[in-house]
Amino acid sequence: RIVLGIESSCDETAAALVTDDRRILAQAIASQEEAHAPYGGVVPEIAARAHAERLAPLIEKVLDEAEVTLDQCDAIAATAGPGLIGGVMVGLVTAKALAMAGDKPLLAINHLEGHALSPRLADETLEYPYALLLVSGGHCQILRVEGVGRYRRLATTIDDALGEAFDKTAKILGLGYPGGPAVERLAAQGDAKAVRLPRPLRGSAEPHFSFAGLKSAVLRAHESGDHRAEDIAASFQQAAVDCILDRLEKALAGMGDVSALVVAGGVAANRTIRTALEGLAARHGLRFTAPPLPLCTDNAAMIAWAGIEKLQAGADADPLDVSARPRWPLDPGAEPVRGAGV
Ligand code: ATP
Ligand code: MG
Ligand code: FE
Repeated sequence: RIVLGIESSCDETAAALVTDDRRILAQAIASQEEAHAPYGGVVPEIAARAHAERLAPLIEKVLDEAEVTLDQCDAIAATAGPGLIGGVMVGLVTAKALAMAGDKPLLAINHLEGHALSPRLADETLEYPYALLLVSGGHCQILRVEGVGRYRRLATTIDDALGEAFDKTAKILGLGYPGGPAVERLAAQGDAKAVRLPRPLRGSAEPHFSFAGLKSAVLRAHESGDHRAEDIAASFQQAAVDCILDRLEKALAGMGDVSALVVAGGVAANRTIRTALEGLAARHGLRFTAPPLPLCTDNAAMIAWAGIEKLQAGADADPLDVSARPRWPLDPGAEPVRGAGV
């Protein structure tokens, strides 16, 4: 089976063709980084327009590259949320049109489910249930992934997401947008012990995250003029790692059996964080896995793959009037957390 995946929830427009035996036949991503860079963050209106201009040619490109016709696709999967609503609508409406024209099933995919299942696209031996640290630009959660559509959320952030903290740190240090890779590069040249920064919520009973205080401390350290930018970056990254390890220890204690510790989402591209998680998994006797870097940040292969997993689980096609959703929690039953977003 072949599924066409479409992603447009933030600032990457992407299309991909993926098979049920885990082959990515073709994929294309158009990043809008330059368009948003002058603003230091994603501007929703600019993003929606860019998606509308770029998506159709990208879909043509992947079909051409893979030498696959629309008719040979078994389903059309598109991100239906959560994300910037204008962009999500562009992708979803395009998918509806293709599904209608080709008489194909439409699969409305939760973007977070794409991130959550992406490790299984890369690694066929990864079995449910697994412990997932989902760390991206808008989310910071610990989940027990029990199967397609079955997610138990143990923790979320009460303020900023980790990717957001990386982006804000980059902005403070004048590194531009997107900030994660730039902070990681600069941190490699710094001393992680040079600047004293807080570890918010360390030791607290619930495994939730908080990064707003860390960001404020980075700002104060920068404004004091007492520290080199590389030392601030390295110390920030170390504080983030310490928070993640502490919070995950807590979550794993209450999670029950899992087959592996998995990290996904854009921040999973960070090598210092990966290495730290590898160590934590080893201490718990768990295997550790993370998707390859291009599958960590936003992409359409993970959306196509989530569609394949849904088909394999026997899910019905979504109706053509399915709505785009700005918010869409993976675990609707999770307790609301004071201050937390989605
Ligand atoms: P969401 O998935 O929550 O809707 P998003 O789609 O914007 O948000 P992703 O594309 O999954 O998020 O991830 C982007 C985030 O990952 C950005 O905040 C970026 O700074 C961060 N990031 C990317 N690479 C790295 C890295 N090497 N180190 C740290 N953070 C990184
Ligand atoms: Mg992005
Ligand atoms: Fe994402």
